[in-house]
Amino acid sequence: MREFRYHRAADTVDALALLAGEPDARPLGGGTNLVDLMKTGVERPALLVDLRDLPLDRIETTADGGLRIGATVTNTDLAAHPEVRRRYPALAQAVLAGASGQLRNMATVGGNLLQRTRCGYFTAGTVSAAPCNKRVPGSGCAALTGEHRDHAVLGASPHCVAVHPSDLAVALAAFDAVVTHETAEGPGETPLTAFYRPVGATPHRETALPPGALITGVVLPPAPPGPSRYRKVRDRASYAFALGSLAAALDVRDGVVREARLAFGAVASHPWRARRAEQALTGGPADAAAFAAAADAELSAARPLPRNGYKLPLLRGLVVRVLTELAEEAATR
Ligand code: SF4
Repeated sequence: MREFRYHRAADTVDALALLAGEPDARPLGGGTNLVDLMKTGVERPALLVDLRDLPLDRIETTADGGLRIGATVTNTDLAAHPEVRRRYPALAQAVLAGASGQLRNMATVGGNLLQRTRCGYFTAGTVSAAPCNKRVPGSGCAALTGEHRDHAVLGASPHCVAVHPSDLAVALAAFDAVVTHETAEGPGETPLTAFYRPVGATPHRETALPPGALITGVVLPPAPPGPSRYRKVRDRASYAFALGSLAAALDVRDGVVREARLAFGAVASHPWRARRAEQALTGGPADAAAFAAAADAELSAARPLPRNGYKLPLLRGLVVRVLTELAEEAATR
């Protein structure tokens, strides 16, 4: 392991100054991903700026009835918060579907958004000689012809087919969350759906955060009408990344879909907001045939690799199953 310096920031101004003063500085939340990647040489920070003393560990109701979630709120506290569970159940379910209890106790909201892909060619770091454009720009992508069972079927590029591993971010995308940040020049914000950059030819450049910016939190607008749910399919029942997941909210009146929100996880380099499916559903019947047709409309853009085509029927099944459950729940309200 390489030597690095560690500083526990006193406040946001202190943290920003430290991040701005050292090009190889990294903000440290719970460290559940960053420290792992330091061990394999993927991340090689000269300075870690610990954010745990910053006043970013609160969840507050906003003036319009949404929620502001601080960047250092732990996943455990987020999932347990009564207003999150009551108003955004899919969000609490997504958090609880991720990692393990011990990891959720440490992991933070900001760190969750910035976590890196679990593509094995990437995480192996300096132990592996395999090419990886995300780890070593311009070196190639071993996953294209190698192991890509878990990789992207939507929105990928020939330069990288990795998926984003977050469950939380998928639910945030469905709820139209906005990521807030602070820089030396002042505050800023980015919709979650624009927070992750398209892969293109630069898969190592992952987010739209300005250089030196610090994520301060996430703002949720008021919850959409109707029930919501997060469902994750994985190789084992806990402590595993998704093979495919869905965050959905459905508003149904008199058998007709008034509003639908859908976001897929583990299919792309970012949470995939399924807007074609939403459009297909809105104003139509709330039945299994319509749900399947909406999934097909979204997945017509999919370009699976030789060994991950199974994700398409998996996602179609998820959409039909979860929306059927939500329609039934909506009918009892
Ligand atoms: Fe690297 Fe992306 Fe290819 Fe994985 S899919 S080897 S992360 S370039």
